[in-house]
Amino acid sequence: MATKISEHFTLEELTYSKTASAKGLPNEPNAVQTVHLCRLVYDILEPFRLVWGDAIEVTSGFRGFEKIQKLEHSSSTSVHPEGLAVDIRPKNMSRIKEFKQRFRDWLHEEKKEYDQYIDETRNGSEWVHLGHFTVSGKQRRQDLVTTDGVNYRLLPRWTKNQ
Ligand SMILES: [Zn+2]
Repeated sequence: MATKISEHFTLEELTYSKTASAKGLPNEPNAVQTVHLCRLVYDILEPFRLVWGDAIEVTSGFRGFEKIQKLEHSSSTSVHPEGLAVDIRPKNMSRIKEFKQRFRDWLHEEKKEYDQYIDETRNGSEWVHLGHFTVSGKQRRQDLVTTDGVNYRLLPRWTKNQ
């Protein structure tokens, strides 16, 4: 049975990892990491879900298993292992561009506190990474774009109706 965090999000979808399950690695958040995930849902995911008005897919949330086994391609600065970030995209991928823009607009218009919004594209896949806090608790409100997960550049400063 799924553990509901909010109307539209469950703990299971925030902690499921295809990689962890394929490799048989545990991916269970501790109490603090669970609080991080709930806070992310309450502050960001659920409020934006209500504005977006359509299903949002969490492609990756908690990745504690990365601390157990140093995996290829896992970034040492990732905050996914602490439950402080999510990768999301619209269920309806024909709206991905609109989703990215709308989400960024919403973060700014609502003056949301967050660490990093990253417009990500990789090998034909697209999603948005939202880092809520750094491990040390910072919220830098950076907006970035990457197409390889290695090189990141700042997006032009956000302005209304850009
Ligand atoms: Zn991410």
